[in-house]
Amino acid sequence: MKKNNHKYIFVIGGVMSGVGKGVSTASFGTILKSKGFRVSLIKADPYLNVDAGTMNPTEHGEVFVLHNGLETDQDMGNYERFLNEDMPPENYMTNGMIFKYVIDKERALGYKGKCVEPVYHITEEILRRIEESVKKTKSDITVFEIGGTVGEYQNAIFLEAARILKLRHPDDVMVVLVSYLPVPNNLGEMKTKPTQNAVRQLNSYGLNADMIIARSEVMLDEKRKEKIAISTGVPARNVISAPDIDSIYEVPINFEKDGLSKQVLSFFKLAPRKKDLVEWRAMIKRMKSPKTEVKIAVVGKYFDTGDFTLSDAYISVIEALKFSAGAEKTKVTLSWVNAKKFETNTLPIESLKEYDGIIVPGGFGESGIEGKLMAIRFARENNIPYFGLCYGMQLAVIEYARNVLGIADANTGEIDPEGEHLVIDIMPDQKKKLEDGNYGGSMRLGVYPCVLKKGTVASEAYSDSKSYKLQAPSFKLINERHRHRYEVNNAYIEELEKAGLVFSGTSPDGTLMEIAELPRKTHPFFVGTQFHPEFLARPLAPHPLFTAFIKAALKRKT
Ligand code: GLN
Repeated sequence: MKKNNHKYIFVIGGVMSGVGKGVSTASFGTILKSKGFRVSLIKADPYLNVDAGTMNPTEHGEVFVLHNGLETDQDMGNYERFLNEDMPPENYMTNGMIFKYVIDKERALGYKGKCVEPVYHITEEILRRIEESVKKTKSDITVFEIGGTVGEYQNAIFLEAARILKLRHPDDVMVVLVSYLPVPNNLGEMKTKPTQNAVRQLNSYGLNADMIIARSEVMLDEKRKEKIAISTGVPARNVISAPDIDSIYEVPINFEKDGLSKQVLSFFKLAPRKKDLVEWRAMIKRMKSPKTEVKIAVVGKYFDTGDFTLSDAYISVIEALKFSAGAEKTKVTLSWVNAKKFETNTLPIESLKEYDGIIVPGGFGESGIEGKLMAIRFARENNIPYFGLCYGMQLAVIEYARNVLGIADANTGEIDPEGEHLVIDIMPDQKKKLEDGNYGGSMRLGVYPCVLKKGTVASEAYSDSKSYKLQAPSFKLINERHRHRYEVNNAYIEELEKAGLVFSGTSPDGTLMEIAELPRKTHPFFVGTQFHPEFLARPLAPHPLFTAFIKAALKRKT
C-alpha cells in the first residue's frame, strides 16, 4: 500500500482577530485525532519577542509553559488540552525567535558567506521547524495556526512559507480561513462581504482558501454558503458553520455537525481510521450536567488594568478547576477577589467565609502581597480549603513563618532582597542572571521531577487519580511544570516542619521544596505547589491536586 504523505493545514484569520482561531485549530486536533490520525498543532505568533515569557499577562494573557520550559502563548495550552498530549518546543514560534536564530547563525558564518534573505532563509527556517515537529510528534497531520489576521505585514512571512510548501506539495496542503460574519443590529441580516474581501486578501499572497470556518452569532444558511462559494471559489460544503456556543469544548462537536472531518479527509483523500468523539462527548456530558456547585475565590492582583479579560490571565487555572469539577459532576463558580482590597479593608477579610475554597495563583512582585497573606491566614485559621499555586505556595510558607513561627518580618527575596528572614529566597544561579539583566527565558522553567512523601494529602491525591496517565507509573515520582525564580529557603525547613508544616514533595535529591501542606488532621485541605499543576490539567485527564481541592470544597459545602 502506498504510504500517505504528511498533510499540512494552515489556519489563518480573516476580518478580525479574537473570533476563536486558536480554539478552531485545537478543535481540528481533537477531531482528526478522534478519527485515528496523529496530529501536531503549531502556533506562529508575529511578535518580535523571542518567546512569550516577557509579555505581561494583563496585556497578552497567560504565559503557557511547555514540558521543555519554552514560554509560549496561551493557545498552546488549548492545543495540549484539546489533544491531551504534550507538544514539543518546535510547535511554538515567533518572528523574533526565527529571525534571532537565522541572524545568530549568519553571525557564526553558518550560511557560509551567502546573502541571507527573509524569503528563502526565514521561510526555510519556518519549514525546517515544521519538519522537526513532524518528526518529534510522529504525526500524520500538522495544523499550523498563523497568529493575527490576513493582511497584516507582520505575519506575511508565515503565509509565504505556507505558499512555498503548497507549491512543493500541492495535494498535501490545505488552507483554512477562520472568518467572522457580522449580523449588524440595524440590518438584522448576516453579511458575507467582509469574508469575501478577506479571501481576496489571502489571494494576494498567492494562496486560496480551501475551507472557511464561518464564525458568527448564529448558524449559516445554505444561501449564505452559496454566496461565499461563488465569490471565493471555496465549495459550499467546505464552508463550515461555527455559531457562538457556551463552552469551547463543544466546538469540535459543532464542527462535526457541519461535516468538518469528512471534508478535510476527502480533501486529502484519506479515509477515517476510527469512528467518533466518544470520550470527548462523554466528558462534555459530565461537564454539562452538574449535580451540585462549589464557590471558589481566586485571590489575585491582575485585576485593575483596563480592558483585558481576567479569564485570559489565569486561563489554565480556570480550565483545570472546570475539568476536576466536571469529573465530580460539580459546577464551579469563580469569584475574582482583588487582594489589595483586603489591605485597605474595602473588602472585609471575613467575606471569604462564603467560599468553599480559596486559590492564590501564580504571580510576581509586591503588589497585593499583604492582602494575599491575609487571605491565606484566613483560610488556614478557618479551615477553608486552600490551594496555592507557585507564588501561592511561597506566600503560604511566609504566612506560616510569620503567624505560626512568630517571625514577623519573614518574607521573600523578591520583595525584600535585603530582608533578615527570607524564608523564600533566590538561588545563586538565578541571582547572577538578574544581575546580568538576563530576564528572558531564564527562570526555572519546564518539567522537573518531584518525589512524594507517603501518607500525605498530595501523595494520596495523586494515587487516587485514575485519569492522570501522564505521570510516572508509580505516582511516587511525579513530573510537573515550573516557572519561577525563588525557592523555599532550606535554612528554615526544620523550624517550619517542627511547627507542623509538611513538605510533602521535594526534588529527588531533597534540596528543593516542591509541595507544602498541612496534615489532614489539622486542616481539611491546605496545599501549595512550587510548580504549576494547571499546565498539565486536561479535560480527559483532570489534575489530581485540583480534583482533591474540589473534593475538599464539596465537603465544606455539605
Ligand atoms: N514570583 C515567584 C517566583 O519567581 C513565583 C512565580 C510564579 O508564581 N509563577 O519565584
